[in-house]
Amino acid sequence: MIAVNRQAIVGHYIGGVWQETAGREIIEVDNPADGSLVGATVAGNAQDVDAAVHAARAAFPTWAATALTERIAIVEALSAGIANHRERLAAVLTAEMGSPIAFARAAQVGVAIADLEALVAAARSHDARRPVSNSLVVTEPVGVVAAITPWNFPLHQIALKLGGALLAGCTIVLKPSEIAPLNAAVLAEIVDGMGLPAGVVNIVFGNGLGVGEPLVRHPEVDMVTFTGSRAVGERIAVLAAADIKKVALELGGKSAAIVLPDASIDESVAGVLRSCFANAGQTCAALTRVLVPTAMLDAWQRAAVDATAGWAPGDPAVESTVTGPLASMLQQQRVRAHIADALEDGAELLTGGVDWPEGHAQGAFVAPTIFAGVTPSMRLFREEVFGPVLAVTGYDTEDDAIRLANDSEYGLSGGVWSGDPRRALEVALRLRTGTVGINGAGLDVGAPFGGYKRSGIGREGGVMGFEEFLEVKSVMGAASLG
Ligand code: NAD
Repeated sequence: MIAVNRQAIVGHYIGGVWQETAGREIIEVDNPADGSLVGATVAGNAQDVDAAVHAARAAFPTWAATALTERIAIVEALSAGIANHRERLAAVLTAEMGSPIAFARAAQVGVAIADLEALVAAARSHDARRPVSNSLVVTEPVGVVAAITPWNFPLHQIALKLGGALLAGCTIVLKPSEIAPLNAAVLAEIVDGMGLPAGVVNIVFGNGLGVGEPLVRHPEVDMVTFTGSRAVGERIAVLAAADIKKVALELGGKSAAIVLPDASIDESVAGVLRSCFANAGQTCAALTRVLVPTAMLDAWQRAAVDATAGWAPGDPAVESTVTGPLASMLQQQRVRAHIADALEDGAELLTGGVDWPEGHAQGAFVAPTIFAGVTPSMRLFREEVFGPVLAVTGYDTEDDAIRLANDSEYGLSGGVWSGDPRRALEVALRLRTGTVGINGAGLDVGAPFGGYKRSGIGREGGVMGFEEFLEVKSVMGAASLG
């Protein structure tokens, strides 16, 4: 392992000042394609969290009192700054979490820009004072927001939280994922050049126990917005409950696609594989179960195996690559364990598997994998894999398909394919999930995103994502005074 150049270690950004890194413990960031060292951040602790939260608290009254037009201008500048640094951010994301470069540019960075634009539109149309009954109903910023984010779409997840909080008039302390923190360091440079008052945006690097827990516990934090695993989401909900902090949780999923008998096989195969395999399967809303009419199963599975050839893993730095490595060697181990469980439970392996994909006998690569004959009693039907693994299950009637789709403790997303979009809509309305795509429709950054059941609490993006960062006050007897 090459020693990290101390000059290249990223320190926290607190109160508008880059913090000293000398003598600090560090966390190295590796390239999952080849294990090479990409960079390092300081490993934060409770004292760093305290300093950042105090900076955010001190900045809050002034930032909350700024005109909405000013906050909109700042978020537009942030979006423009990200667009100006698109190539650099994409390269950083490719190096630190293995996202193929073209995907990093278009999806990882592109969606972050689109998120900010949608949030700005939501803030513009927001009515912060309106008469309701005998009262004047007023919205106000929640206060100091703690944002904790994962590594799979790191910039997108930060943009949703940072953009919403800033527009609402909140100040923020961000703890990015320790697996992919370097994009957040670039973002901090952009923020630093924007002339924001000191303390409005603070970034503390580190892991969950060292930084995440002290941040959630901090008495001066008013709201915690978290995206990540269900286990950590549960922990955060418990910690935040101690002083009734507001929480917004975007957690995992085991989302199902329903292919109706009148659907095109080629189109549904292409759409399901794109959802399941893009970003090497590390997408919370990925359609990782597909329910296919029994009479169509053979043809659908054959077409899916053929189409998987188009998702062969490759070097993520190469422009034409569509499947990179997973984000870390640990994630590769976890995904291989899920594949081994599926084999042990009796699922039929159609393509892929636990072995290294051809030509990639190092790095965190996993071959896109499809299992047939997956039943509700198997772990693959129920557990989130967070890798490129698709479970195929046959069904007889439409009611069966809907029952199977809803047979999950998660409820993040879903998909329906049909030759008749109205029929697809009828089925979509019966799914207990926060989003559903018809005939391959993907993420809509202007619409609310979030989960039913154990997939989370609250919504991100657009109008509802902006409103998450607001408190509501009814001034009774003041309806006519607004
Ligand atoms: P993770 O839960 O391990 O980590 C997420 C973040 O939480 C990281 O910054 C981590 O350092 C921090 N953390 C870990 N332990 C903590 C603790 N005890 N207290 C406070 N913070 C702590 O998740 P991950 O592995 O980074 O991401 C993958 C998971 O995220 C998957 O389960 C996926 O479904 C989920 N996810 C959900 C969405 C969504 O919008 N619903 C989006 C992306 C990812």
